[in-house]
Amino acid sequence: MLDKIQSLIKGVAPERCVICGKPLVGTYRVDKWGQRACVEHNVVPCSSCGRMSRPEDTHLPDGRTVCSFCIGKTVRKAEHIEWVYSRVVEIFERNFLTLPGKIPVEIVDAQRMLSLYNNPALNGAIPSGLTVSGGSGFFGSKMSHKVYMIDNLHKVIFGGVLAHELLHVWQNDHHIKLPNALCEGFCNLGTYLFYTYLDNELSQKHAELMLANPDPIYGEGFRQVKAVFEDEGCRNLEKTVEILVKQNRIL
Ligand SMILES: [Zn+2]
Ligand SMILES: [Zn+2]
Ligand SMILES: [Zn+2]
Repeated sequence: MLDKIQSLIKGVAPERCVICGKPLVGTYRVDKWGQRACVEHNVVPCSSCGRMSRPEDTHLPDGRTVCSFCIGKTVRKAEHIEWVYSRVVEIFERNFLTLPGKIPVEIVDAQRMLSLYNNPALNGAIPSGLTVSGGSGFFGSKMSHKVYMIDNLHKVIFGGVLAHELLHVWQNDHHIKLPNALCEGFCNLGTYLFYTYLDNELSQKHAELMLANPDPIYGEGFRQVKAVFEDEGCRNLEKTVEILVKQNRIL
């Protein structure tokens, strides 16, 4: 009580740990949302927003966590997928890219995602999305595409991952062969456009993280593609790929 009165007088709330609620003294942990916690807690970040999770949050058997902020906004039903999908398509169209028809999207659990990837190099890390394209697409035959998405993603993050995967679909359908950093960088440009278009706190945070990502492929490659898109690509996605392909043609 005295604590509360003193804090009211000073006009500041006492700093408390988000996990156990005890007042924080000395060193403490801070997440990118400014949440603070005692150093001794073994915290797992929410797999969607990165907030430090609490013991009462949803802890999935695959090791991922969904915080209380994200749990009510995860994509589960067909109509949720539809809502996000139509927004992603809208952003592509605003930036002059048309997908080859309606692409089927299926939500899968971690076990199924890992079996679809079948890649020991993942080392247990669970990918958020996967694109599978089949058929040659030559001599008049159409390619078939399918996107697999991991379950329990917040709709904003789901949209970011879906935009990435759908740009793999587009590249596959057009037989685009770019160096890996540019291929993934282009897909990440779709994610970035989705986040900046939504412009809410979560999407804004993720857009900032993308701009600062030190990864040579997903960060550096993305920024390289973004620079071309904003300059000679005239904010036109299809034109941006044309330029990248020309620049990377082996003579
Ligand atoms: Zn604590
Ligand atoms: Zn969260
Ligand atoms: Zn990718």
